[in-house]
Amino acid sequence: MGLLSKKPKRGEIVTLGEHDLACVICKNDRFFKREGQLNTAGLTFLDLDWANASALCCVCDVCGYVHWFMPI
Ligand SMILES: [Zn+2]
Repeated sequence: MGLLSKKPKRGEIVTLGEHDLACVICKNDRFFKREGQLNTAGLTFLDLDWANASALCCVCDVCGYVHWFMPI
């Protein structure tokens, strides 16, 4: 059970190319996937947040550290 987690649910192993993702903080290998919005000041000012790019967020299921990945 994690320090910040209250749920017994585990995340999943995330593979990036040939590598399995490991948390940079605790070296855990299981993550919850989320989509994150990459807001820019200009588009937010124009109330066009929907036009900003989104990123893949992998949240470590032990420590909660969020790993962000831009689409390439
Ligand atoms: Zn971690």
